[in-house]
Amino acid sequence: MIGFEDLGLDVTLLNAISDMGWTLPTPIQIEAVPAGLAGRDIFAQAQTGTGKTGTYALIIMARTEPGSKKPTSLVLTPTRELATQVENEIYKLSKYTGHRSISIYGGASISDQTYGLRRGADIVVGTPGRLKDMITRGALDLSEITEVVLDEADRMLDMGFADELNFIMDAVPKEKHTLLFSATMAESIKRIAFNRMQDPMEISVSRDEPVSDLVTQYWIPMSRGAKAEMLEHVVTNGSPKTVVFSQTKRMVDTLADEMSHKITVGTLHGDMPQAKRERTIRSFRNNRFQVLIATDVAARGLDINNIDLVVNFDVPMDSENYLHRIGRTGRAGKEGVAVSFVTKQEEYHIRQYERETGKRIRKVRADEMPSAGTMIVEDYVKAPAKAQRQFAAAPVQEKKKPVRPVIATTEDGKKMVVLQINLGRDDGFSKTQILDLVKRVGKLDDSFIGNVGLGRSKSFIEIREDRSDRTMETMSEYRHKRKDVLMEPAEHKSKYQENKPKKGDGQY
Ligand code: AMP
Repeated sequence: MIGFEDLGLDVTLLNAISDMGWTLPTPIQIEAVPAGLAGRDIFAQAQTGTGKTGTYALIIMARTEPGSKKPTSLVLTPTRELATQVENEIYKLSKYTGHRSISIYGGASISDQTYGLRRGADIVVGTPGRLKDMITRGALDLSEITEVVLDEADRMLDMGFADELNFIMDAVPKEKHTLLFSATMAESIKRIAFNRMQDPMEISVSRDEPVSDLVTQYWIPMSRGAKAEMLEHVVTNGSPKTVVFSQTKRMVDTLADEMSHKITVGTLHGDMPQAKRERTIRSFRNNRFQVLIATDVAARGLDINNIDLVVNFDVPMDSENYLHRIGRTGRAGKEGVAVSFVTKQEEYHIRQYERETGKRIRKVRADEMPSAGTMIVEDYVKAPAKAQRQFAAAPVQEKKKPVRPVIATTEDGKKMVVLQINLGRDDGFSKTQILDLVKRVGKLDDSFIGNVGLGRSKSFIEIREDRSDRTMETMSEYRHKRKDVLMEPAEHKSKYQENKPKKGDGQY
């Protein structure tokens, strides 16, 4: 998994990213940031929602010193709304670098903007018409610009800004680094890239397809007070792998406290340090706990393919967040269910999201609410024959069962759980070395460990049941020679039993 710290950004930007609550870079950030930092021109097809603003904001800040007399970066956007939005994001990301930014757009006071420029700005974000105006008036000096960004270039051309664009591009120094973002790759855009850029790297990313047809959406009317009980009902029934969304960190923590007595949960919110968030995501991906409770910000970009159920514990504030939340399930060809718990006051949002997404959000009464698995079954029963055959081939309920630990009992009657670890002979381990590693890292003495079985790429090890969770947790935070160690319940019960040693020989 690639993290922000792998992209070549320094700590001032990494800290600001962490404050933004961004857990992992988006695909365009992964592709474009390292190339952009190295000075490569970039020609990217990317829409809003892909993280494109962050991409270029990080690149230009990493490549320029703050506190310059004249602006060093110029960002062109088609509208004042986008200019303000972009400047706002740059402002937040510059928290520790100290870059000063300003937005310059039509319809606002020219003298205020002139004054702002005179006070000094490293990054100017603006619309083409007003920027040209400020250049002509002598209020904006572009002679020190080294970074130029054209954001939504296709829209700027559609809006008739071609002349202004050319004027501005002629006003910046010839030696510059150019980043172009466009939703389309129309001929007119390609011409700019060809004429104005140096061997640009072409990148094309699509926005996360937010609502796949594989997501069935439900909403349940209920009072606020009934939500916690309903949540427990849906996640304990059929054990779906679940992400629960709530708007506040406090509610995330409260829910986790309440639920952790009954099922395995993890939490994700903006206050957690980056490393911890990544660990949580990794554990969730590896089925180490069943339910992830998260805020919107923290779960942005959460890319896990086998989430069965998304629960909106409260209804998100806008359709973008709604789409983003429910898009965590129904990925990679697997079906998923999204269910929103809706109070009277929240109902109008649901109707709005139905309208905006063009997809039905089916109402179910609280007392009709079966387990998530059963809901999927219902859909299949009503679906065309092909889907039913598919269903018959892969029963949903069975697929949903989390891995159950294999239990062994030692001669003196202690319950041992068989765990597997992704290290083996190929990683240079002998059986004793595996045993020593688990003892040392897991802080266990011999009384907690039973037999060890060494395989090529993985090994099996018996751990006393009451210490198994903690051991899996600590071992999975460990790295061996840059390899992320993963310890989890053993998968293959039959194989394990087949290979079970004769009493006393201590091997599998
Ligand atoms: P954009 O595509 O630039 O319009 O960004 C869409 C939204 O995603 C904005 O709210 C950004 O603040 C947010 N965003 C950008 N990058 C990330 C990331 N790596 N993780 C989470 N959110 C992000």
